Amino acid sequence: QHALDRIAAHADLGAFLHVDADGALAAAAAADARRAAGQALGPLDGVPIAHKDIFVTQGLPTTAASKMLKGYQSPFDATVVAQLKAAGVVNVGKLNCDEFAMGGANENSAYAKARNPWDTGRIPGGSSGGSAVAVAARLVSATTGTDTGGSIRQPAALTGITGIKPTYGRCSRFGMIAFASSLDQAGPMARTAEDCALMLDAMSGFDERDATSAEQVRLHDGTLAANRPGVIGRELAALSLAAQLADKAHPLAGLRVGVPKEFFGEGVSADVLAATRAALAQLEALGATLVDVSLPRTELSIPVYYIIAPAEASSNLSRFDGVKFGHRAQKYSDLNDMYRKTRAEGFGPEVKRRIMIGAYVLSHGYYDAYYLQAQKLRRMIADDFQAAFQVCDVIAGPVAPTVAREIGSQTDPLQEYLADIFTLPASLAGLPGMSVPCGFSDSGLQRPLPIGLQLIGNYWQEARLLHAGQAFQ
Ligand code: GLN
Repeated sequence: QHALDRIAAHADLGAFLHVDADGALAAAAAADARRAAGQALGPLDGVPIAHKDIFVTQGLPTTAASKMLKGYQSPFDATVVAQLKAAGVVNVGKLNCDEFAMGGANENSAYAKARNPWDTGRIPGGSSGGSAVAVAARLVSATTGTDTGGSIRQPAALTGITGIKPTYGRCSRFGMIAFASSLDQAGPMARTAEDCALMLDAMSGFDERDATSAEQVRLHDGTLAANRPGVIGRELAALSLAAQLADKAHPLAGLRVGVPKEFFGEGVSADVLAATRAALAQLEALGATLVDVSLPRTELSIPVYYIIAPAEASSNLSRFDGVKFGHRAQKYSDLNDMYRKTRAEGFGPEVKRRIMIGAYVLSHGYYDAYYLQAQKLRRMIADDFQAAFQVCDVIAGPVAPTVAREIGSQTDPLQEYLADIFTLPASLAGLPGMSVPCGFSDSGLQRPLPIGLQLIGNYWQEARLLHAGQAFQ
């Protein structure tokens, strides 16, 4: 009820696309009944959360913030939704986002703009903007998001909360409406690393319905384990205990933090640089050692991503043809006309732009010049990370080059794409990345605006990231 009251009181923030008051109260009552019956409760039992509207949910609308899916209801739950349900959470509803998760400001939603609670004239980031706002404004305790090129990390940074994009394959993509399938990952957003760990622990696990979900994960000690809920919690407990026993005052003793010089160059605003440098000093004070590393192809991750992601999107979004689900044009002359009108009416401008770019780079004659080259560079970007991880355990740097900008202040899509520079590399490599709040901008703003620190780990090292984030907070 508290969550529902807060959501109603802050409806102007545009965080929710759908609130399920009845369902939430019933789930909360069921959690109360479990407690009254003396049943063992898990840490998420009865906790109010909400899902990005890109996860399908049985009995609730799912739109991906697109007109194309207006009125659509899925006959099943996404795996991540089902896993959290099994952990006892109370789902309060569906959260606003950029249409089909394409964007970084939540300005591409077909339904509403989401507003940054720190300054409601500013963007909360995106595409998981509603997910970030709902946590930052304390509407619910935690939310789910998805991250294809930064959509969990960047809105977390711009709203002063914590978010983690897991290693590609840690969480099932089944029931997550596909944007760019080789990049999409689900992940949690919450106030702290500790809360993110509880969520991620319940959301992760192999799923035979997602061909790219991983059967095994590599633990922090190098051994292999089955990918299932509970693994991260155990790893985190082990890491925390070891740190406690070794050196209470320096929980990050022995951790080598790589500082990539390409993440601290021009284009990063002074306030973000200052907060990030202060965060590095704090990591050092906690016992970590800083090491200089290089990720030489950082800049190339922008053209590489903006070829690969639209290519996959153009293919994935071909299913929205007006036949099987969602919007269908009212008047048309034949089948092709129906497709054309349905898609022209149903998709917003950014989605159309991506479909056209994607179709272009995949077309005969351009495939070799663009798509194939991008794939080769993608591999080299992943290799650069492996070279860096020879000398460090985690990589630290900014999440976004600036604090949250004003709503409506960016009309050039290319400029918008450039702001993804620090989140795209880990996405292309499939590595886990986290954003933890590390300070505020004080550069003459009316209100302080949050800044996030990004921590990137090697494959499956989520527990290490979460442990570092926890110590840092
Ligand atoms: N901003 C990036 C894009 O527009 C990332 C989006 C995402 O991660 N879903 O593609």
